[in-house]
Amino acid sequence: MVDPIKLSRELLAFNTINPPGQELGCIKHLESILAVAGLETSVHTFAPGRANLIATIGGSKEKPPLCFTGHVDTVPLGNAKWSVDPFAGEIVDGNMYGRGSTDMKCGVAAFVSAICGMAEQLRDTSGVVLVITAGEEIGCEGAFHLARGGLLGRAGAIVVAEPTSNVAVVGHKGALWLRATLTGVTAHGSMPHLGVNAAYKAARALAILEKFQFNVAPHPHLGPPTLNVGTVHAGLNVNSVPDRAEIGIDIRSIPGLDHARIEEHLRAELGDDVSLEPIVDVGSVWTEPSTPWIKSVHEIVRNVTGVDAGPRPQTAPYFTDASVLTPAFGNPPTIILGPGEAAKAHQTDEFCSVDRIRQATDIYIALAVKWCAKED
Ligand SMILES: [Zn+2]
Repeated sequence: MVDPIKLSRELLAFNTINPPGQELGCIKHLESILAVAGLETSVHTFAPGRANLIATIGGSKEKPPLCFTGHVDTVPLGNAKWSVDPFAGEIVDGNMYGRGSTDMKCGVAAFVSAICGMAEQLRDTSGVVLVITAGEEIGCEGAFHLARGGLLGRAGAIVVAEPTSNVAVVGHKGALWLRATLTGVTAHGSMPHLGVNAAYKAARALAILEKFQFNVAPHPHLGPPTLNVGTVHAGLNVNSVPDRAEIGIDIRSIPGLDHARIEEHLRAELGDDVSLEPIVDVGSVWTEPSTPWIKSVHEIVRNVTGVDAGPRPQTAPYFTDASVLTPAFGNPPTIILGPGEAAKAHQTDEFCSVDRIRQATDIYIALAVKWCAKED
């Protein structure tokens, strides 16, 4: 029996702050637990000290397995001082504290403990596949390694255990982060006529970006695509003409809006003087709420938590590894459903409710039971 609370605390003890990540110790720990429970495991290294883990049990020709996925890297601690040890998994008033508790080691612990506890019963069924990634926080690099390497195999539906307070979420926007670079010619600050000022070029580009229109209808549930300039850098010292400027652009996209098309549109508006380079490029995720499997997920969640999903489909404000994994698995229905609270992710004194971890474990068990039930 793998206790999800104890496992959450063990995972929190690994410092997997990304950068630099260094998730291997945490991944190996999970591998040994899953192997002991009888799952077939494989560790896929993509950089020194950094690896993803795939674990499977069961499997049949007729029906692909159910996939549970989560990442084990975390964001940095931030500048503010924590009131608790961020690696201790201390429980205060029913909440487990630690960096990566809500986002999303407690979610990973919940599905790992769920599947370990029922491994024998899954052996001769369509089965499950656990995809535990590293490097999610910086553009899903671990998931990309698995997808591009063709290492994923099959999945008939995907459960992403990111923080949703155990509400089934059916989609999120994509992200296209671009670095726009403008070049000029440097000169002494007392003789600006001898140079070409890259900062002025950047100012012209910023005016265009502020007015940029996507010209697409908003998604009925995810809303419109957005564009934000997050960073602007130009010049090294006040008494020189800057010969280089960089603008960081954060675009959030919706289904049907192709990233290549956005880039093309931006290039046309900004002109040849601006070079654009993608830093993060992950698509949006959306499963129609009327999909039978989504309906069955809502029913299971209602049975376990007593909370009804309500009439409006729920969406997440952040992106997840599903941006990469869902298309790589051939676009099976995907939900985001985990014990953490989205509002606590990336915060000082991040925590996850202990009751919700247990609830999530029960939900994941019920999802696996339902998926693997013999059909009559
Ligand atoms: Zn996350």
